[in-house]
Amino acid sequence: MSALVRVEKLRKQFGGLTAVNNVDFSVAEGEIVALLGPNGSGKTTVINMISGAFAPTAGRIMFDEADISGLPPHRIAHHGVARTFQLVRVLPSLSVRQNIVAAVAFRRDAVWGEEAETEAEKLLVDVGLAGRGHEMAQDLTYIDQKRMELARALAARPRLLLLDEWLSGLNPTELRVGIDLIVSLRERGMTVLLVEHIMEAVRALCSRAVVMNVGTKIADGPTNDVLADEHVVRAYLGE
Ligand code: ADP
Repeated sequence: MSALVRVEKLRKQFGGLTAVNNVDFSVAEGEIVALLGPNGSGKTTVINMISGAFAPTAGRIMFDEADISGLPPHRIAHHGVARTFQLVRVLPSLSVRQNIVAAVAFRRDAVWGEEAETEAEKLLVDVGLAGRGHEMAQDLTYIDQKRMELARALAARPRLLLLDEWLSGLNPTELRVGIDLIVSLRERGMTVLLVEHIMEAVRALCSRAVVMNVGTKIADGPTNDVLADEHVVRAYLGE
């Protein structure tokens, strides 16, 4: 499989702090890869660089053989990268449908009016919100807000989806539903880089895992091997 996204010697410095240090990894088309590590290890900073929120201090990000390092977020989105945020970001005083239509309208091949509404309805079905488009975003339960946020990301028709702790904060039943939803994306061939603390989800979803600790990559391989690696276990225990 060829890499859809590949980071090479990626580095990010915040003043004197090296948040990400010489990190290399790739995600092949159709793969779901976990990006793991204790708090503060640099995972979100990597996601922020891939999505364009921060420019790398050094290194490269290749997306489908195009160098996207340091491009602004909208240009990276146009290449086919979409993300969700750790804290759900929605337009609270709009309806669920309007939230999704707005996302459809920001796409490079944007559509408007009836076409956008039809597409929004399809996305609502995909994320399990069929028939709920008229509800106000602010009235949704937490899991339904997460579904809507996912629909907004999917509205961009991404080739790579960056999910930053999208499953966090869900109760066990909701977690099952959330995992199944990501499985359905995998079955449709979506490529996902998943930052996640919930190991049940990582084991269920990810063929491969990359682990960071204090800005550096410490493991990269099949999920089961990585989670059994003593360096990884020690990093999580803070030893
Ligand atoms: P993780 O996602 O693994 O919890 P982060 O990428 O959020 O880790 O953070 C890695 C390090 O970079 C931390 O020490 C954090 O305090 C620092 N950091 C993250 N974002 C910024 C920022 N915008 N400015 C300064 N330091 C930051």
